[in-house]
Amino acid sequence: MTFYLKMKNEKIAKILFEIGEYLELDNIPFKPRAYQMAALSIDNLEEDIQGIYNEKGIKGVLEIQGVGKGIALKIEEYLKTGKIKYLEELKRRKTIDVKNLLKVEGLGPKRISFLNKELGITNILELKQAIKKNKLKELKGFGEKSQQNILESIAFVETSGLRYMLSEVQKDVSMILEKFKKLKEVEKIEVAGSYRRKKETIGDVDILIASSKPKKIMDEFTSFEGVSRVWGKGKTKTSLRMEKGFNIDLRVVPLGSFGSALQYFTGSKEHNVALRRLAISKGYKLNEYGLFKEGVLKAGKDEVGIYKKLGLQFIPPELRENRGEIEAGLKRKIPKLIELKDIRGDFHTHSNFAGTLISMEEIVLKAIQKGYEYIGISDHTKALKIENGLDEKELALQAKEIEKLNKKYREIRIFHGAEVNILKDGSLDIKNSALKELDFVNIGVHANFKMKKEEMTERVLKAMSNPYVTCLVHPTGRIVNKREAYDIDLEKIFEFANLRKILLEVSSSHRLDLNDYNIKKAKEKGCKFLINTDTHMLKHMDRMKYGIYQARRGWLTKKDVINTLPLNKIYGKISRSNNL
Ligand SMILES: [Zn+2]
Ligand SMILES: [Zn+2]
Repeated sequence: MTFYLKMKNEKIAKILFEIGEYLELDNIPFKPRAYQMAALSIDNLEEDIQGIYNEKGIKGVLEIQGVGKGIALKIEEYLKTGKIKYLEELKRRKTIDVKNLLKVEGLGPKRISFLNKELGITNILELKQAIKKNKLKELKGFGEKSQQNILESIAFVETSGLRYMLSEVQKDVSMILEKFKKLKEVEKIEVAGSYRRKKETIGDVDILIASSKPKKIMDEFTSFEGVSRVWGKGKTKTSLRMEKGFNIDLRVVPLGSFGSALQYFTGSKEHNVALRRLAISKGYKLNEYGLFKEGVLKAGKDEVGIYKKLGLQFIPPELRENRGEIEAGLKRKIPKLIELKDIRGDFHTHSNFAGTLISMEEIVLKAIQKGYEYIGISDHTKALKIENGLDEKELALQAKEIEKLNKKYREIRIFHGAEVNILKDGSLDIKNSALKELDFVNIGVHANFKMKKEEMTERVLKAMSNPYVTCLVHPTGRIVNKREAYDIDLEKIFEFANLRKILLEVSSSHRLDLNDYNIKKAKEKGCKFLINTDTHMLKHMDRMKYGIYQARRGWLTKKDVINTLPLNKIYGKISRSNNL
């Protein structure tokens, strides 16, 4: 009898624990812990839970420590039916390849779950098959056009491959580094590859360790939490896959060649080819083991030594793409790249005055907490209906609220702007009389992306001709891994931006628009920039670093970026009203 009773307690505890684990996967706060605490408490229960229920009903279950109403109901369900539907639902959801389906433009969690219920779709392949059979367009909320768009986006996702955004893996990689740093066998550790170059997306993560005890390091590595599969384990290299889906290659080298290995595995290939050519021209041989002259090791322990021996200024990893960095290094003309600490404010945040859930005051407080000198609020305007875009009257009301906030928070200056829509014909959706009242005006394309190149260029140039424009935000419309840039003649846009002193945005959001390559092109035309976060949730204000990475890859210095200026200099650069 006792055995039977114990079984029920144990089973329920196990199920609750499992629910907690599934919820953890979904990144839901607090709830997983609640389930796990309840599980623990039932596992330690001296009485039989079935007995408690038989005697006192759900009230009795509620008396158990850590069991709230939601959990009590689930326990009741189990005692009555022998299963918990909620767990089955969670299990079913887990088999959907949510991560990759989310990459398809036009699919959010709700739609993915809807498609799963209606058509049983669990991955991209099945989605494609359903579209081929024209099944999607019959569904509520979809239709011919959205079916076609989804198909195009799938093609894009497939060609861009399974690359991860830096922001998706950075936290996990940091945790792995922390674990390694605790091992006394690790003498030095660095992440190499595209991760170190801060490329917008990365394939595999390359970790490099200097140690004289590689076996111990490899054994630790393969037993780390979160490892889902080991592809290969050797003395100097181990490759494995993490549960999140990305691969890690770990290499262990002797301390004496750590620098040359780091240089070699940081890449890019193009940079390394050019560097090896330079080495040969100077009578050296360069490889992952070191820099040699007539067979004698000349440098290799650290990277700086290698660049120095070759007559080069140190080249920051972000510039190693063979886009002129070696020539610049020889002439000692590597720019001092911008850093996160140079930023003094943000000119792209959205408040609940229009479409988001965060108030202007919350944005201001967070900006103060970040040590900013100024913060720009830039809500969407009326043509963007899904974001409850503001009209002229609402902008005037917002100005009053901002005035109040400026009085309340003297330690920061709040600038009132807007993110004004560039309509199909190149006109703006807010009248000049209202634009004139704003401190700054961002303009951007948010609809009608499919136009001929000349038409799109004309459209954006016309919008930029408006005398009140401060900044062209997300200038190409692309979203990393999701949407390609629209067709536009950027050379013309950059020339005009430089002529009219219109700033170009480097977005720190998942758009990362402009990208590194175009940032460099624009800089060469003389353009200046704003690095913005496009904040829709408070935590977005922390993603400024991703914009900084792109700016560095685009060769920007502090001088190129206007939101590094102190408060007393910034207003003249962003406001157009004064100059007219
Ligand atoms: Zn926008
Ligand atoms: Zn925006």
